[in-house]
Amino acid sequence: MKIAVLHERAEGETRVAATPETVRKFTALGAQVGVEQGAGAAAGLADDDYVAAGATIADRAGVLAGAELVLGVRGPDPAGLAGVAPGAWLVAALDPLGQDGRARAAGYAALGLEALAMEWMPRITRAQSMDILSSQSNLAGYKAVLDAASEYGRALPMMMTAAGTIPAARVFVMGVGVAGLQAIATARRLGAQVSATDVRAATREQIQSLGAKPIFVEQVAGIEGEGQGGYAGETSAEYQAAQAALVSGHIARQDIVITTALIPGRPAPRLISAAQLATMRPGSVVVDLAVEQGGNVEGAVAGEIVRRGGVTIIGHRNMPARLAADASALFARNLFNFVSAFWDKEAGRPVLPDGDPIAEAIRVTRGGAVVAERLRE
Ligand code: NAD
Repeated sequence: MKIAVLHERAEGETRVAATPETVRKFTALGAQVGVEQGAGAAAGLADDDYVAAGATIADRAGVLAGAELVLGVRGPDPAGLAGVAPGAWLVAALDPLGQDGRARAAGYAALGLEALAMEWMPRITRAQSMDILSSQSNLAGYKAVLDAASEYGRALPMMMTAAGTIPAARVFVMGVGVAGLQAIATARRLGAQVSATDVRAATREQIQSLGAKPIFVEQVAGIEGEGQGGYAGETSAEYQAAQAALVSGHIARQDIVITTALIPGRPAPRLISAAQLATMRPGSVVVDLAVEQGGNVEGAVAGEIVRRGGVTIIGHRNMPARLAADASALFARNLFNFVSAFWDKEAGRPVLPDGDPIAEAIRVTRGGAVVAERLRE
């Protein structure tokens, strides 16, 4: 079976969907891997490294010709996928509900591809090692703190020096999923005084276990905010008002705020208003990790660092791409773990059994049609 590894075309995308490590593992399964020229360059991986791992290097048409499995980080333009074998798998973060997602899905169907959206991986134990959202969010949470720290014109840890004492910075993390937990841990490692909030009550203990202070809305009915699959759901108007009041009181005393709040299938909840930002002291830094999903922070701009009344708001797109080597290593392992879990030795290729919860969750197109329920709604 022939595998094609694409060179990402999206602007700012530095990651690659296979590394020499995973090429070796695919080769050990009996596959031949073709890597598009320069695919790993932005992640520090040279074509020669792939060749040493057993891959061949070619242009896009060359790697796609007869490929039965196409690996990408993002959903590629279907127009550039001619030549793949009928029924080939396309495995990537396809963003089917995003801009152009439906049109691309239709294009994949027309090519006869079986397109599999890796970000739709169900959150079940068996799929944990295949979960690109977790592996990439973890790095995003880490990098968000480093970006904030480098914009912040002060130190994070308390420092007692002969010239006097520097107080520890106060860091507030809003949204304690995978990214938020890593942001808390990173800020703590850097010596900051950390507090955090979430709508899911289960996070209170997690915040405490990392040595941070939980900041929670108390005594409002229906505060659980726990939606399907462990994700957050939308909160009531009463809850939102209580949360806004709580944040207003807290935020004015913070030096760095990292927001990560997302609700699947909905725009990101607005957590910080311009009026609240105005209460922060000059020199403070806010990182909005949800900026591409609509933003948690009023005035945050995707792809930009903006200043509002002395407060710096960081809105980098695609935070994991800022750690290209590690993000690629983990992403590539997620894809390998997925493909190898369904590897059929006799067929010499992966097979997704019908009815498997993973197959049901991630399949976007099959047999020339768009099959994902979420795209047909
Ligand atoms: P996410 O990226 O969807 O959202 C980030 C966080 O924002 C969540 O904790 C959410 O509760 C929070 N949030 C949403 N609205 C908010 C609001 N108005 N105010 C404050 N916070 C708000 O979340 P995630 O990182 O994908 O994690 C969600 C859950 O799934 C976590 O409990 C995580 O541990 C779990 N998870 C499970 C698996 C698995 O079992 N395989 C894998 C990954 C994550």
